[in-house]
Amino acid sequence: MPWTKRPGCGTVLSLMSMWDLANQNLRSLIPYEPGKPVDDVARELGLDPKTVIKLASNENPLGPSPKAIAAMREALAGCHIYPDGGAFHLRNALAAKLGVDRTQIILGNGSNEIIQFAYSAFATPGRHRAIASKWAFVVYKLMAQLFNVDFIETPDREFHHDLDAILAAITPDTRLIFLANPNNPTGTRIPNADLKAFLEAVPDHVAVFLDEAYQEFLLDPPDTIGWLQHHPNLTVFRTFSKAQGLAGLRIGYAVTSPETAEILQRTRQPFNVNLLAQVAALAALHDEDHINATRHITLEGRARLASLFDRLGLRHLESHGNFIMVHVRDADHVFQSLLRRGIIIRSLKSYGLPEWVRVSIGTPAEMDRFEAEFPATLPPA
Ligand SMILES: *Cc1c(COP(=O)(O)O)cnc(C)c1O
Repeated sequence: MPWTKRPGCGTVLSLMSMWDLANQNLRSLIPYEPGKPVDDVARELGLDPKTVIKLASNENPLGPSPKAIAAMREALAGCHIYPDGGAFHLRNALAAKLGVDRTQIILGNGSNEIIQFAYSAFATPGRHRAIASKWAFVVYKLMAQLFNVDFIETPDREFHHDLDAILAAITPDTRLIFLANPNNPTGTRIPNADLKAFLEAVPDHVAVFLDEAYQEFLLDPPDTIGWLQHHPNLTVFRTFSKAQGLAGLRIGYAVTSPETAEILQRTRQPFNVNLLAQVAALAALHDEDHINATRHITLEGRARLASLFDRLGLRHLESHGNFIMVHVRDADHVFQSLLRRGIIIRSLKSYGLPEWVRVSIGTPAEMDRFEAEFPATLPPA
């Protein structure tokens, strides 16, 4: 109800709505639609949460690295102390592992926060533009709306980034380009040589933010960290949410030139990455067994899903991540039918792909369950 008068206030307020006071670009902002949590689904359908499986958010089905859990247990009693805002130990460890200097590393509250730093650092609202491919990770676009920055979406080539189209879209006002390699939700990748040639062709006035959230799942990842030396306008960003299984902690990082790093650091809140996330990430970084096991079940599960979709005659994209995008004709129908069976996947309707769903790779037991239930959920041809 609009309120017109507050007793005792003297002035009469005639606000129609708090929306009249809000930044007007928020009116058109479409909130990010996360995968449905297991608890919600269990509650709504009267199911035992233990029987519900979530194949919706590309999380690690093996859970967090056991080493990360142990490190967090040990750190719990120190939670009354603010975290190290400079994250000395974690940034040193990342620097050593990647062969760069600690000052080239910036941590984010999830790698999604790095996207926010990019806009804060390089795009003036109403003046500068950002570019990404159609069907690229949707957060680049959402953040552009939030920051009131013009966002150019270039046409894709069969769900792949078209790097020539991106180059052709650059104008003097362009400040940011976002690439996701591999990309989510498509799972498609950019060939290493094409990516290198692209970076050489991008003019100096554009900052390139390369999202490597699924880097660990590539069998032949490009040497993007090595390329930083020749490309001070390149920022590579990664996450602990996927291969390391720490999505709930919210931690990611960017690696870039010392100068860009200094700029990005200024956009960051002093304690943006919490204490438990820092110790867990440090432990997970060195847990090669867990990462290898994750990679192993991912590649196995992915091949298995691909052959299931082939048997059912469904078009699916060759994925380089821990998920597959598949054409099911009616995404919401399949999503709802699987939900009733206690399996949560992701409908891509909100992405503008109402005929496609995305299925994350689960454990072998979860894949058994999916394989048994999925065929019956397909809409009649
Ligand atoms: C999952 C994902 C991320 C990771 O986000 P966090 O904020 O680190 O959890 C980033 N980019 C893409 C393309 C993703 O799919």
